[in-house]
Amino acid sequence: MTGEVMRVAVLRALGGPLELETRPRPVPGPGQVLIRVRAAGLCHTDLHLVDGSAVTPPLPLVLGHEIAGEVVTVGASPSPSPGTGPGPGTNSRTEPGDRVLAYYYEGCRTCAWCAEGSENLCPRPAAKVGFDSDGGLAEYYLASARSLVPIADSVPFAEAAVLGCSGTTAVRVVRSVARVAPDETVVVVGAGGVGLSVIQVAVADGARILAIDPHGPSREQALAFGAAGALD
Ligand SMILES: [Zn+2]
Ligand SMILES: [Zn+2]
Repeated sequence: MTGEVMRVAVLRALGGPLELETRPRPVPGPGQVLIRVRAAGLCHTDLHLVDGSAVTPPLPLVLGHEIAGEVVTVGASPSPSPGTGPGPGTNSRTEPGDRVLAYYYEGCRTCAWCAEGSENLCPRPAAKVGFDSDGGLAEYYLASARSLVPIADSVPFAEAAVLGCSGTTAVRVVRSVARVAPDETVVVVGAGGVGLSVIQVAVADGARILAIDPHGPSREQALAFGAAGALD
């Protein structure tokens, strides 16, 4: 792989545009996998990172924390880890050509939250890809092997990518926080990326949805994804 390159979209200054840059293509080390990015979502959080309104990212930074693609090369197996926390995916047999999404939040693997599999609550994450380390707005992405989740051939890359952030957020909100029961009525305020995902999960779980959004096309999307009604 030495000498091969890739293009990435880099944020160099707060408020600035993303600029295309050519960089050496990474070579995966132990426990790492090189992904050819086939789809990367743009999350509203990316806009907050660009303007620095939520957190101040280290710059320059390649944004993109909703990543799906194909495995290109697999690094050597990592040394046994002292951590006990499971990774979000099953990746022990990752091979070139595999279709995967890469979860962006890499827990420390040693705290109580990581040990129970709730890496998203880890107070000392090893990395938050696209927030504090280079993400997926690039032709290739160097992933931690344990962050990968296999995706079925029937799932388009673009739909798989958004499961890594807005999709997982929706599943947790509907099933673990709100604990929506079948036949309950759920009001979803805001039919953006997360809101539309919430609608799909809640509909799949048998709930009735009323969506509220001032944006007409968003209300139409809410209805298309199964909301019973939509108000502005
Ligand atoms: Zn996000
Ligand atoms: Zn942890």
